[in-house]
Amino acid sequence: MKTLFTLLYITISFNMLISQTAPVIVIHGGAGEGIKKGNFTESEEKAYTEALQKALKIGYEVLENGGNSLEAVEKTIIFLEDCPLFNAGKGSVLNSEGRPELDASIMEGKTLKAGAVAGVTTIKNPISAAKCVMEKSPHVMLIGKGAEKFAKMNNLTMVKPQYFITEKVMNEWKKSHVEKKKSYVEPPSKYGTVGCIALDKYGNLAAGTSTGGMMNKRYGRVGDSPIIGAGTYADNNTCAVSATGHGEYYIRSNAAFRISALMQMKGLTLQDATQQTMDFIGQLGGTGGLIALDKNGNIYMTFNTEGMFRGYINADKKIEVSMYK
Ligand code: ASP
Repeated sequence: MKTLFTLLYITISFNMLISQTAPVIVIHGGAGEGIKKGNFTESEEKAYTEALQKALKIGYEVLENGGNSLEAVEKTIIFLEDCPLFNAGKGSVLNSEGRPELDASIMEGKTLKAGAVAGVTTIKNPISAAKCVMEKSPHVMLIGKGAEKFAKMNNLTMVKPQYFITEKVMNEWKKSHVEKKKSYVEPPSKYGTVGCIALDKYGNLAAGTSTGGMMNKRYGRVGDSPIIGAGTYADNNTCAVSATGHGEYYIRSNAAFRISALMQMKGLTLQDATQQTMDFIGQLGGTGGLIALDKNGNIYMTFNTEGMFRGYINADKKIEVSMYK
């Protein structure tokens, strides 16, 4: 009997040992030409750094406590959506009519299940609505009023559109509305979308992205962030990806899926696949950045702008946060 228990104990311990991966979490808070030294005061730098660190810790805690990567991604993004510093949730940029229109998506690498919402104006946390679409509907993407009705039906917190508008963004909008009226597609100095990718103890990858889109975008415009394969992608066989930047280019290049496909079909490493995709976007004329994480916990972050708010906690529990090149 004793031998049997010893054997059982050894088998369980061994299984746990081989089936547990060290958790990893990676985030971005947008890229842009405006993210360079001298453009931020010391206290602004501190605020961004602290927000990124806090976001990472929220997600990492979920992973450390045995939560799955999907949950970690949602929790981390909720924090970033609630933080007015970033262009997602509260603090979102405004469309050409001066109103917020929010997009978000989430994907699970284990099942390739995904959910997204686009053009929503009253859901406090669009990332939760995206997760809800994934888990509680047979669809992948809901837009506008239909998405809002669905969120309400599922008891998500609803707010007035004014909730998302900060004074800072309103002032920036007024300026850009006057200056960029004729060319709303001009890249802004700072994007600011948020994204999170994570690997949990069970080896499952997940990715999520949430945004207010691009300042002064045309009413009804949808960017890459809620598009699975463009702004977000996760596949346990390859990697998890979240993008930020001039969305039209990321849609046209299938950016997030492209990285996964390059790894799967061409055998590229995470770094090569991600960098080649960033270069391709650049060749098309697009600017922005990408964060990527593979099934082995390797991290790669790249951007072709002056800076990108970004950070990670890696398999060695090292926490790193940065803004500039
Ligand atoms: N990619 C987002 C969009 O085009 C913008 C951003 O990254 O800030 O909607």
